[in-house]
Amino acid sequence: MSVDQVLMAESFVVHGRDEGGPFVLVSDHAGRAIPPELGDLGLSAQERARHIGWDIGIDGVGRKLADLLPAVLIEQVYSRLVIDCNRAPGHPTSIVQVSDGTTVPRNQNISAQDRAWREQTILHPYHARIRQELDAHVAAGRQTVVVALHSFTPSMHGKQRPWHAGLLHNHDSRLARIMIALLQKAGLVVGDNEPYALTDTSDYTIPQHGEQRELPHIEIEIRQDLIADDAGQTEWANRLARVLPQAWQQFCEQYGESA
Ligand SMILES: [Zn+2]
Repeated sequence: MSVDQVLMAESFVVHGRDEGGPFVLVSDHAGRAIPPELGDLGLSAQERARHIGWDIGIDGVGRKLADLLPAVLIEQVYSRLVIDCNRAPGHPTSIVQVSDGTTVPRNQNISAQDRAWREQTILHPYHARIRQELDAHVAAGRQTVVVALHSFTPSMHGKQRPWHAGLLHNHDSRLARIMIALLQKAGLVVGDNEPYALTDTSDYTIPQHGEQRELPHIEIEIRQDLIADDAGQTEWANRLARVLPQAWQQFCEQYGESA
């Protein structure tokens, strides 16, 4: 069995450990598995390994970061080509028919039954597990910060993307703005709602678990060539393990929460 055809008991994996810190890490696009029921989605191994299938490098960054902070990381196991866990169920790009020029044969004209099956076996259990983690934090009266980890392809539609990383924000930009300033101070080129902007419809995880619950949150995108290997993943995990607590400290000082 290849790496992307492993049958998982759950649609998510939990890494790291909870030692009382505020951060809950989530990786919607860390996985590249495909349920055996869906074969290879009609795609070559090469296509499945592209950025359209998963957020390249973010698995390594997330796991190392979870160990360093430490914090709990909830990681999606299945490829975003099976169902995108950062889209609301039924969203036009929840189950993509074409992604970055690649047609996904198994996703053409799918039945309502197939769609419901993907939602029930992959999307909902993953978000339920995130909700469970956040509920436990909140019930214990703990401060809670949702951190959504993503990576982006260095070039899209023939255009090179200049940012080392981007912060995506919408209804509550407070923590994102602090993170942007801290990363810029470290000499990085940081996208402000680039290469993507956070919106009510193009995202699901932060609107659901951060904005609607009014929990402070971060959605960060890291450029994939910077985290393609172990050294790059370690560098970024170390950086985030340093900067996230700084940002949270600053947030608490500025907005009157006690860190
Ligand atoms: Zn992503």
